[in-house]
Amino acid sequence: MSIAAEPTAITARATSSSRPTAPPAITIVGGGIAGLSLAAVLRQAGISYRVVDQASKFGQVGAGIQLAPNAVRLLHRLGLAEELAAVAARPQALQVRRWHDDHLLSATTLGAACEDVYGAPYYTVHRADLHSVLAGAAGSHGLALGTRIVEVTERPSEVELTFADGSRERSEVVVGADGIHSVVRNVIASDQPRFAGGSIFRGLVPADQVPELAREPMIRMWAGPAQHCVCYPVAGGRAISFSATVPARQAASESWSALGSTAELASAYRGWNPVVTRLLAAAEVVGRWDLHDRDPIPRWSTARLTLVGDAAHPMLPFMAQGGNQAIEDAVALGTCIAALGTDAVAIALRVYEALRAPRAALIQRGSRLGPAAMARPGDDTGPVQDGLQRLRAMAWLYGHDSGEVARAATARVRATAGQLS
Ligand SMILES: Cc1cc2nc3c(=O)[nH]c(=O)nc-3n(C[C@H](O)[C@H](O)[C@H](O)COP(=O)(O)OP(=O)(O)OC[C@H]3O[C@@H](n4cnc5c(N)ncnc54)[C@H](O)[C@@H]3O)c2cc1C
Repeated sequence: MSIAAEPTAITARATSSSRPTAPPAITIVGGGIAGLSLAAVLRQAGISYRVVDQASKFGQVGAGIQLAPNAVRLLHRLGLAEELAAVAARPQALQVRRWHDDHLLSATTLGAACEDVYGAPYYTVHRADLHSVLAGAAGSHGLALGTRIVEVTERPSEVELTFADGSRERSEVVVGADGIHSVVRNVIASDQPRFAGGSIFRGLVPADQVPELAREPMIRMWAGPAQHCVCYPVAGGRAISFSATVPARQAASESWSALGSTAELASAYRGWNPVVTRLLAAAEVVGRWDLHDRDPIPRWSTARLTLVGDAAHPMLPFMAQGGNQAIEDAVALGTCIAALGTDAVAIALRVYEALRAPRAALIQRGSRLGPAAMARPGDDTGPVQDGLQRLRAMAWLYGHDSGEVARAATARVRATAGQLS
């Protein structure tokens, strides 16, 4: 993959095997949280696009995801408030508890206070529910499933995509929303994912099997030596989703469909308090995800190509922000393209990157610190004891509005261009 001009032979082959359809203005590679959110924003702005995803159908990933107000307010603006509220749970607090005796160490107030402070709720949802809300907003019109991209080549006048079946297609602009193993990213960077020395076991338990955890909607995190377990309600409170870290020397799997061993999980949490061990034992099936991230990169864009979500900034899950940042990206990028127009897309991509890369890098680095990173990385405000104060201390993260920031920046660009013309 390169952004340099291609040899004539490759160009010729491309012409003869290209699909007969007219090239879409924008091709989004990947229909995960990032890709579908971007599709929804572009659809709302009336800009044509196509989403291609290697999956033959969107699967039911058995895990939850936390959606913080920095992303929820953007989803609300896309008109998804009612649909989200119907499938989400609204936790009252984020509690940190001691691993061996369940003693409460600290709590960050969420619930109604979060909406008062940040104008949007903190939600916990099943991934499949979030995905179907986003897929509904993106619409099925521009979606091509079972379509894997294996190579991306940028030229001055187009980007060429090579599919797994050997066929090729051109697009004016390509957005890589293809996750941590992004093929599109290879045009921009030559790095590889980095193993972080641990795995996460994930499971879903019907709420009636763990009534002590289902009574009050809470995000609970038990912090222990070298590992921690987080759980919260999903599916409107009908199930509890958990993620439990286990140190590991070697990576074994990194896929949402890889299974873990329930015996290995039980053994790693032997001696923890019974609330945790009961929860872990109640899961019949556990998924296993080996932890990887990459270092931040300063450039995400070329003239016709950019990255969103994990393709741009894969991060460890310890701040629960990867998906939230993907939504921030999608709204910022869609806003830049809509405001500056597809004719000035190179400028839109550059403005988008300048707005997003520093913030994503801060959160990527913070996520490596583990759960302690929930205070702003590098901030020295000292310990905050009160739950509401803890919530207010998150303003740098939850108070950010990537859509408003992009709108203001593109207005400045347009004003400057107007003065120059
Ligand atoms: C255990 C765990 C817990 C987490 N918890 C949270 C949380 O609570 N809150 C939060 O905000 N984030 C969380 N995250 C992070 C979050 O899951 C990711 O940041 C988010 O899923 C990234 O979305 P994405 O769309 O960028 O990438 P992905 O979800 O990886 O989607 C990429 C898409 O691209 C497609 N694709 C890939 N390659 C190709 C190709 N070559 N051709 C065509 N299609 C392709 C894939 O099929 C997929 O559909 C967690 C992560 C983990 C591992």
